[in-house]
Amino acid sequence: MRFPLRSIAAGLSSCLCLASIGFASAYNAHPKLVVIIVIDQFRGDYLDRYADQFGDGGFKFLTEHGAYFPECSYDYANTATAPGHATLLTGAYSDGHGILANEWWDPQKKRMVTSVEDDRTKLVGVTGSVPGGASPRNLLADTLGDELKLATQGKARVFAISLKDRAAVLSAGLSGDAAYWIEPKSGTWITSTYYRTELPDWVRNFNDSQRAGKYLNREWKDDKGNVLRTTGPAPGKPADFYELVGHTPFANDYEFEFARELMTYEKLGDGPATDLLVISLSANDILGHQVGPDSPEMQAMALALDKELAAFFDFLGHQIGLANVWIALSSDHGVAPLPAIAAKLHIPANGLSAGKVRAQLNQALSARLSPAHAAEYVANFSYPLAWLNEEAFDALHMKEEDAERAVGEALKQTGMRGYFTRAQLAKGEVPDTETGLRYEHSYSQLAAWYVFAVPAPYTVGSESGTDHGSPYTYDTRVPLALYGIPFQPGIHRTHAEPVDLAVTLAALLGINAPTNATGRVLTEALAPARRGEGSLPPPEMRPNPSRSPSRPPDEIRPAALVLREGPP
Ligand SMILES: [Zn+2]
Repeated sequence: MRFPLRSIAAGLSSCLCLASIGFASAYNAHPKLVVIIVIDQFRGDYLDRYADQFGDGGFKFLTEHGAYFPECSYDYANTATAPGHATLLTGAYSDGHGILANEWWDPQKKRMVTSVEDDRTKLVGVTGSVPGGASPRNLLADTLGDELKLATQGKARVFAISLKDRAAVLSAGLSGDAAYWIEPKSGTWITSTYYRTELPDWVRNFNDSQRAGKYLNREWKDDKGNVLRTTGPAPGKPADFYELVGHTPFANDYEFEFARELMTYEKLGDGPATDLLVISLSANDILGHQVGPDSPEMQAMALALDKELAAFFDFLGHQIGLANVWIALSSDHGVAPLPAIAAKLHIPANGLSAGKVRAQLNQALSARLSPAHAAEYVANFSYPLAWLNEEAFDALHMKEEDAERAVGEALKQTGMRGYFTRAQLAKGEVPDTETGLRYEHSYSQLAAWYVFAVPAPYTVGSESGTDHGSPYTYDTRVPLALYGIPFQPGIHRTHAEPVDLAVTLAALLGINAPTNATGRVLTEALAPARRGEGSLPPPEMRPNPSRSPSRPPDEIRPAALVLREGPP
């Protein structure tokens, strides 16, 4: 008897969910706006670690009034900024979207190229001679924003912003209206001719009003008034926004300031279809590399961000009304502890010098393959990826497979646990294990010969500070929270992955999931429908971040009612 009852219950609840989903629709702007906030380098454990120090309106607004998945984890090994943002927006891993690293070796250009550089484009908003622009043309899959655009025949507007070009460009997708990022020295907002030939007036005005400059020569203090950083340039040195401000909460303030201006001037949330805004916050990553996840600075950064989020949610509430917005929060990757911190606890840890590893590899390979002459068999080692110099192997008539295996064996001599070659991953020849699957998901056909080193846990690719880029939990586990009328408030300790974000949002918006998406709809996050119940609550009953935390979730969340009867 148990089975039929359970299946009836499951059937009923899926009907209820479908009824609820039916009310939300991207085609008539229900919701008016989806905001995805990606914190660059934000580990899943931070929200627990600082839980008793957060206020009610920031992180807790999402984790207590939204569906929160604390056990969300990337199921691939290449945990870095470009792959992470591509994964969140395409709902696929690198074997689907193609972005396997922030940069890779280009055998034709004989240098590393970035995941978004594109010679066919130019930067817009930069004066003087500048190298090529940026575009998302390396993406092998489309994104949530692209599907929104397709479904609404371009009526939905899609924007992404970040301090970093790769984070903004990959998030805006192929059809985004614009991606904006900063020129590092001045901090002014720029874009690429891929999107437009000139900055819009509002961006020019923003830049001209010296908004970046006001964050220079300031003191960043923690809650107790201790000065953690000053943002003044050293005597005689020119000011560099990214260097001086980038690793402080002022950089997040600056991004939110730009986001508010963008929403106002582009009238986001005021169109005939659902709009999408992706805000990638870079400051946590810039600071995290320097001081590690266990430092007082990272704690102060998290607490400052909590307040910044609260202010932004308040703005969303006033500007669009929180009943008309869905908010998602996640991160592109975590980070390893500083090797010195782990070592103090008797946990083996190591900070590698990428340059030294490359020299070691070339020495070992030369001794084995061409004892008479030393050659540069490894063109670049960008932890944990070794990029091969095909010409050097060609001279020995070595095939890709053999060349990559030789490099892999040399990597093991440097202390790596193992390796996966491009040729091996291309053929799907990986062991049927969790680790094998993670590297299979990290494969991309975009780059030429390469080998993934499998590092030992707590080994990082930098002699100073710390890093990410491993398949271990400290790098893969990130928060995932979804706020909005379709989402049932609650903590779900079920298995979730960042690839589920775009798939879940697409399902609830009533549009196709991105082309190569492999994620699942997080059905446990969905609020049951409440068809035919009452009428639209008065405005004072609608969610507001400054007031809602004191109210029980059900009371502040009018569920399907607002979706059906709310303003168009
Ligand atoms: Zn980083």
